[in-house]
Amino acid sequence: MQGKIIKGIAGFYYVNVVESGLYECKAKGSFRKNGIKPLVGDEVELEVLDEEEKIGNVTKILPRKNELIRPAVANIDQALVVFAVTEPKPHYNLLDRFLVMMERKEIPVILCFNKTDLAEHPEIAELEEVYASCGYPVLFTSAKKEENIEKLKQMLKGKTTSIAGPSGVGKSSLINLLQSGVQMETGSISRKIARGKHTTRHSELIMISPDSYIMDTPGFSSLYVNDFEKEELKYYFPEFSPYEGKCRFNGCDHIHEPGCAVKEAVESGAIHKIRYEDYTEMYRELKEKKRY
Ligand code: GDP
Ligand code: ZN
Repeated sequence: MQGKIIKGIAGFYYVNVVESGLYECKAKGSFRKNGIKPLVGDEVELEVLDEEEKIGNVTKILPRKNELIRPAVANIDQALVVFAVTEPKPHYNLLDRFLVMMERKEIPVILCFNKTDLAEHPEIAELEEVYASCGYPVLFTSAKKEENIEKLKQMLKGKTTSIAGPSGVGKSSLINLLQSGVQMETGSISRKIARGKHTTRHSELIMISPDSYIMDTPGFSSLYVNDFEKEELKYYFPEFSPYEGKCRFNGCDHIHEPGCAVKEAVESGAIHKIRYEDYTEMYRELKEKKRY
């Protein structure tokens, strides 16, 4: 039988099998000899020891598509980055840092700006202008008015999506709406999970439809990593790529070099000033290796 690990607590792995429910498992496979531990998000094979009690063993971990360290999770297909259009106003710099990190990990991003019920059209138009022009899918929602929730569900369908964003923007409200009508945990298993819950905070996948999962990603602002060289940064700004190779100097970092095609694009408005300013700030930091 095959399933997906949605939670791990103290040596137990909770494996969701779409047709038959959630199994409490221990790791028993030969993968343990190689020092490999099952991760939340892993697709696994399991043998059922007791169908009544829903107990089994994880016998095999299927090949991973990717693996994140913080939070420890495997097989993330995409990240949904949630900000509010207002209250709190979007923190462009924080958002751009997060986008750089996802580009670096090659995880596709969907941008969701929530609380449209509180915003005027110009605020929404600016966000759309800045980020849609970089090529990111941008969605505007109101959890309060339940606007665009179906569209959001569509964008998450068939995927495992990590949801991140600063606090207060409406992540929990959106997650509640996405979850509504889905029953996953049943009977004794949910009691077992509940017992483990108040020890530490663990990452957990939530099934929102039989083939779609979401994960709440805590610790958003500490996610930025600077373990790469400043010369790499330009590749993590997708809107720079049409200008690559068009600057006067080979290996132009688009900072102070003359004849820079990226800077010309910023002047003409083809690249947004806000994004370019965040680029130069991050570049400076990488140069000085300032820690975040
Ligand atoms: P989280 O910290 O990102 O999980 O945000 P919450 O879901 O806890 O929401 C923070 C506050 O914003 C709560 O008071 C929510 O009721 C409110 N909120 C969430 N979504 C919306 C929305 O679309 N419109 C408005 N006006 N308020 C919202
Ligand atoms: Zn340049």
